[in-house]
Amino acid sequence: MSEHIGEQRTERPRQSRFERGDELVVMKFGGTSVEDAAAISRLIGIVRSRLGAQPVVVVSALARVTDQLLEAGNAAANGHLGLALATVRSIYVRHEQLADLLVNESAYSALDRELRSEFRALESLLHDLEASRQLDLKSQDHLLGFGECFSSRLVKEALCQAGVTAAHVDARACIVTDARHGQASPVWDATEQRLQQALSPLLESGQVPVLGGFIAATCHGVPTTLGRGGSDFSAAIVGAALRATRIEIWTDVDGIMTADPKLCSDARVIRKMSFDEAAELAHFGAKVLHPSTLAPAVRENIPVYILNSRRPEGEGTEIVARVKGGSVVSAITAKRTVAAVEIESPQGVGSELLRAVYAAFDRHSCPVDLMATSLGRVSLLVGSTAALPAIAADLRGVADVRWENHKALVCLVGENIRRQPEVASRVFAAVADMDVRVVCQGASDRTISFLVEESKADESVQRLHGIFFPQQEPARDWGGISSAFCQAG
Ligand code: ADP
Ligand code: ASP
Ligand code: MG
Repeated sequence: MSEHIGEQRTERPRQSRFERGDELVVMKFGGTSVEDAAAISRLIGIVRSRLGAQPVVVVSALARVTDQLLEAGNAAANGHLGLALATVRSIYVRHEQLADLLVNESAYSALDRELRSEFRALESLLHDLEASRQLDLKSQDHLLGFGECFSSRLVKEALCQAGVTAAHVDARACIVTDARHGQASPVWDATEQRLQQALSPLLESGQVPVLGGFIAATCHGVPTTLGRGGSDFSAAIVGAALRATRIEIWTDVDGIMTADPKLCSDARVIRKMSFDEAAELAHFGAKVLHPSTLAPAVRENIPVYILNSRRPEGEGTEIVARVKGGSVVSAITAKRTVAAVEIESPQGVGSELLRAVYAAFDRHSCPVDLMATSLGRVSLLVGSTAALPAIAADLRGVADVRWENHKALVCLVGENIRRQPEVASRVFAAVADMDVRVVCQGASDRTISFLVEESKADESVQRLHGIFFPQQEPARDWGGISSAFCQAG
């Protein structure tokens, strides 16, 4: 059986297989950190500041490009090829304009050749989609990956132009995954070997490797992706393969905050978090980190930093194995577009029913979020209702499957939060008028979560943030129920 990255392996040598200096930093730049010429110039400055630490650069597609590619794919599959081609044309023009601003004439023509050839392949894929009239997950992976192919070539050339010796590395030739299109999982041994083989000679000769995040391929070379927001995960995969000394996620906020700052303008930066807390937060919907990012870092015990590319001098958030002290409530988040599924069986809930339920969800690639059982009923949460009719059909005769969608799971995260009963009572008093439908008791001590109508998610987070992170309270009084800065002791 192939080995996946989340699995614990035995007898792993701590040292990388190739010789290297003491430091190695993997730096991931998200879409807004490469969105225009000013952002790419900031990226160059940040990479320069790490040249002594063997940087490896992982970049997302330029902001909004992945969504535009998806729109173009849907348009083509619906027969609107003209619209699809116009959309990708505007993506092409945006990259050309940036190339024009960032690189000189001779480098421009080489880059232009590369970009044109990629765009021709993209246009040809859109023609195929129009002919087949469908955009399945396999074609979608191929389509969406173009964004990172373009951005990584552009950023590599911009770095070279600025005097940084950079080399482009095709992530699809290095990160090997299973064929679960839309959200593939890395096959660790092959990935590790290929990353080391491709990157070690570059690092040894003082070059800065630049890879597109998010993209990978199966062992047969079929393009896959790691799921939306997956460039964070790519950085962690590269970091773990190279036994990096740190992984830096450069984004558009000052670090992980007590809530999404787009929702709570008074959200504060959390200076230090444990891997476990940050993983819970990512799992429960905090977009700032892709939920799979921390597993490879945990396995190799590599600290992860969340930093603002617009304010590189900031301290950001440091995520490490253990944080002493800290606060009871670290952060509040919400996972949207959740559906609550109830599975009822007249025979009651036994291991046979649970096996059949799991097998049905697995067969239809429908990941299950939270699960609770009672006498004759299994309750669970899923992120999409797409597969539910087929799952219900599979289970007909065994159990009745019903679901309600448009829900959100609001979650408070903090070390030992569940061991403080007063937190739960304050939470449920605060949302008592909101028709809290299910109180979810996950397995960990680090979360309290509940289900509300999706339309109430923002208000729930804002109310709870107001209670646990009150604006007017002076700093010296924090540290009881919550504190703005979770510091290691
Ligand atoms: P990138 O393109 O750099 O990967 P993302 O948009 O994926 O950036 O993630 C950064 C965004 O995550 C922020 O702009 C912010 O709105 C959102 N976010 C959600 N929850 C949090 C949180 N708890 N702390 C910080 N940012 C958060
Ligand atoms: N570009 C991809 C997305 O928008 C991956 C990423 O940005 O991390 O989902
Ligand atoms: Mg992201």
